[in-house]
Amino acid sequence: MKSSKKIAICGAGIAGIATAYYLSKMSPNVEITLIDKNQPMAFTSSKSGENFRGYWPHPSMEALSSHSIDLMEALQKEYGKDAFRMEFSGYHFVSHHANKPIFADDAAPEFRARNEVLTDAEVIHKKHPYLAPTIQKSVFIKKAGNVDSITMGNKLLKVAKAEGLKLVEGEVKDINQVDGGFTIRLDNKQSIQADQIIIATGPFINHLAGMLGFEFPVWNTLQRKFLIPDPKKVIPADMLFTIYSDGQHLDWSAEEKTFFESEDNLKWLTRAFPGAIHIKPESGRIKMGWAFSTKAATPQWDIPSFDYFPQAVLKGASRFIPSLADYAENMPTPLIEYGGYYTRTKENWPLVGPTEMDNVFVVGALAGFGSMTACVVGELCAQYVSGEALPWYADYFHPNRYDNPSMQAVLDNLDLDGQL
Ligand SMILES: Cc1cc2nc3c(=O)[nH]c(=O)nc-3n(C[C@H](O)[C@H](O)[C@H](O)COP(=O)(O)OP(=O)(O)OC[C@H]3O[C@@H](n4cnc5c(N)ncnc54)[C@H](O)[C@@H]3O)c2cc1C
Repeated sequence: MKSSKKIAICGAGIAGIATAYYLSKMSPNVEITLIDKNQPMAFTSSKSGENFRGYWPHPSMEALSSHSIDLMEALQKEYGKDAFRMEFSGYHFVSHHANKPIFADDAAPEFRARNEVLTDAEVIHKKHPYLAPTIQKSVFIKKAGNVDSITMGNKLLKVAKAEGLKLVEGEVKDINQVDGGFTIRLDNKQSIQADQIIIATGPFINHLAGMLGFEFPVWNTLQRKFLIPDPKKVIPADMLFTIYSDGQHLDWSAEEKTFFESEDNLKWLTRAFPGAIHIKPESGRIKMGWAFSTKAATPQWDIPSFDYFPQAVLKGASRFIPSLADYAENMPTPLIEYGGYYTRTKENWPLVGPTEMDNVFVVGALAGFGSMTACVVGELCAQYVSGEALPWYADYFHPNRYDNPSMQAVLDNLDLDGQL
């Protein structure tokens, strides 16, 4: 009797888990082994803000994330609303410029039919009194919200295990090709045989690709978030997830500026910052992030610390929520700070599907959107591995798209990467 196909998924972050889940549904006869150095979802996936949105600058990303939202809703239908929390609380973008687009098409009737756009400062301030009265534009994206992606991931893992998935703890140290298959050696001396491999090691996808002799066109940037208490109740408990779209220079005093300019490692504080500071209330505290780092970082298991991040974010955020200026001067404690890597491609689209090496697949480069798109990228990778029909957007996320002239033409014409 022919033994069943063996598939090893390296990495039990949310992407590896979702891939395992959809693969076990599509190909019940394959043997799936999911390998991780640590507990499932303990690395990048545990740092996620767990926000989701169905709006992206490019139709392919919009289709991808919209379908993922549909898949998450389908999971809730199948396993019950209590299986994991998911709420459509929206994303609220604000700007000081009434006439500057926040989204390229935000003046179009179709956009306005789906979302709420306000350009009257008085109306905006009346509706959202915590915002600076000088805010002139407000765009509320309705197909967006927050999902408890860790509970969702645990549910998917439990179901996949019940279907036969084997979860193995160990760090992949090397991979050898043998007799048309692979031997994966772990740090605990265990060896796993596989006919096919799926690389889902998040910030370490190139580490695994390197073991097989190739490289993905990705890099990592270290991004952070923090939580502080809100003793002065600056942020209403029901404030929307709010994103400030404008870039800015931080408003330091002349003395502070001179000091930062004089220190090589602090000069960055005086430079231009991009838009997209984001802020939301969380259990009586304030959670804030700003993915402004563009510096390529070599991923490390222990996330390095970083001075002045909360100060910079609070200073920037007081531009649109003025009462936060108090906290920038006197930071409330305890401050909880954490970070993780955005693993990204140049255009900020993921890599999903077959690699340049036969029988090796990837699901990765999920930057700041991996929790919201885990289901769809997991499904897409499983469709490739199972030989199922592919959706129209598959080509846009194919790992070898840079060798495809028609895809390259699309990539050459992009101007926004949609990063938050
Ligand atoms: C600060 C921050 C905020 C974010 N906010 C959001 C958000 O609001 N919404 C959203 O959708 N996304 C958000 N993201 C992005 C999201 O968290 C990631 O895209 C997603 O978690 C990536 O999942 P992954 O499975 O690819 O990677 P990971 O979660 O990193 O999983 C990879 C796994 O591979 C394992 N691994 C690596 N190397 C090896 C090896 N050699 N052997 C064995 N195991 C190995 C690791 O232990 C890890 O568990 C955020 C990210 C950050 C950093």
